[in-house]
Amino acid sequence: MKPDFQELIKIIKVNDPQADTTMIQLAFEFAAKAHEGQLRKSGEPYINHPLGAAIYLANLKVDNNTIIAALLHDVPEETKITLKEIKNNFGDEVANLVGGITKLGTLKYRGIERYAENLRRMFLAISQDVRVIFIKLADRLNNLQTLNALPHNKQLRIAKETLEIYAPIANRLGMGQLKGDLEDLAFPFVYPDDYKWLTKILPTKKQEQEIYLEDVKKILDKELTKNNIQPVSVHGRAKHLYSLCQKLLRPEYNRDISKIYDIVALRIIVKDIADCYATLGIVHSLWKPLPGRIKDYIAQPKPNGYQSIHTTVWAEREHIVEIQIRTQEMHEEAEYGITAHWQYVEKGKPQEGSRLSKQLSWVNEVLKWQKEIKDSEKYLEAIKLEVFPTRIFVFTPNGDVIDLPEGATPIDFAFHIHTDIGMHCVGAKINEQLVGLDTVLKSGDMIEIIIDKHRKTPNPDWLKFAKTSAARSKIKSSAKIQDYFNEAWETAKGLMPGRKKK
Ligand code: MN
Repeated sequence: MKPDFQELIKIIKVNDPQADTTMIQLAFEFAAKAHEGQLRKSGEPYINHPLGAAIYLANLKVDNNTIIAALLHDVPEETKITLKEIKNNFGDEVANLVGGITKLGTLKYRGIERYAENLRRMFLAISQDVRVIFIKLADRLNNLQTLNALPHNKQLRIAKETLEIYAPIANRLGMGQLKGDLEDLAFPFVYPDDYKWLTKILPTKKQEQEIYLEDVKKILDKELTKNNIQPVSVHGRAKHLYSLCQKLLRPEYNRDISKIYDIVALRIIVKDIADCYATLGIVHSLWKPLPGRIKDYIAQPKPNGYQSIHTTVWAEREHIVEIQIRTQEMHEEAEYGITAHWQYVEKGKPQEGSRLSKQLSWVNEVLKWQKEIKDSEKYLEAIKLEVFPTRIFVFTPNGDVIDLPEGATPIDFAFHIHTDIGMHCVGAKINEQLVGLDTVLKSGDMIEIIIDKHRKTPNPDWLKFAKTSAARSKIKSSAKIQDYFNEAWETAKGLMPGRKKK
């Protein structure tokens, strides 16, 4: 399907009927003229690529300057027109966004150096203006759509990079839809055999489930109306292919698709949080829930901000169905992530203390290590550990939520709260029980750190189980200082009168 400029305008007008699209029209004409005569590797006119990226972003409800910058994003690099001319025509903000993309685009490293450098720049760009990353992700998505036209080794590199860097970042920004789309496009290039296998076994199962869900939906609609709940919408949603495959490959599923209950899940969107819980009650009065499958991400959001209630029930004819309940606001947030609020943000930076700025606080953490860790391999290790694996969330005795990587211990918690707390830590309680400092924390745990002001240095043995870079680097540097003093002390002792040199 060829992207069409009128489609872009239509989407913008649906999101905001008052929107002034004059500048968008000008940007499109400017880019089309600059790229005139250029073709993509697929043989299409070049302008289809920036236009496709802009259309994807308009669907995520980003602000107009982001759309304008998306239309212009390849102009400085691929045409004779300079960034300065963009600045003269479209202003500083658009020029900064386009400049940000250009900087991300030119990488001189190869191998692990290249990978680490890539990540460093991504995080730096996010911290300066996260909209640069929205454009970069949409750019990548559009490139994946025409990946077939490239030579095999390039396909593989781009697809792998997508799974390893771009999709996890989209996920960390709470952009569920974009993450799933990126993964599904890269999937067949990186794991062609698994992809063929899955697309062969999937279709009948999916179709069966969709027909069945229609029945479930009717019963549910009736019961909700009886209880005076007007759902905004009730619809089936299909799982993305790559995440489905990841799940099937886990040992507990062992490639058995009959064990998967949420290939198609039922999603109920209601007007407010009270209705969410009321709906959960109605669902459970109709059908018995499976034990251990009720997840209240409204009371305890996921680290990326995701909110929803999930439950899995034995529905009609004893079939197992996953049901997700959320408000419209939570829904938009889950699909579009931080772009959902972007229209209300000024100058590319969220207000300090706002929910959005908290969502981005991990970026600043990662940037701090960039200064501390010069070695690329170590930097990568730290990032992989901190940003990409599953996170857990635990509580302070005051009820503050602390976000830590999986496998974290009370030591990590202590250093996360404050360096001094880590330095003086002598013990810990989890849920009011005394535990060893090497105990692995679980989501939902309440942690209290016992400190002793007389304790001056952390125990180097803590390195055996400290997980976060923050804790590890502080323990290490403190141990180094200790070694230095010990050595100095030994030397000093040797110099003291009446003592023999060692
Ligand atoms: Mn591009």
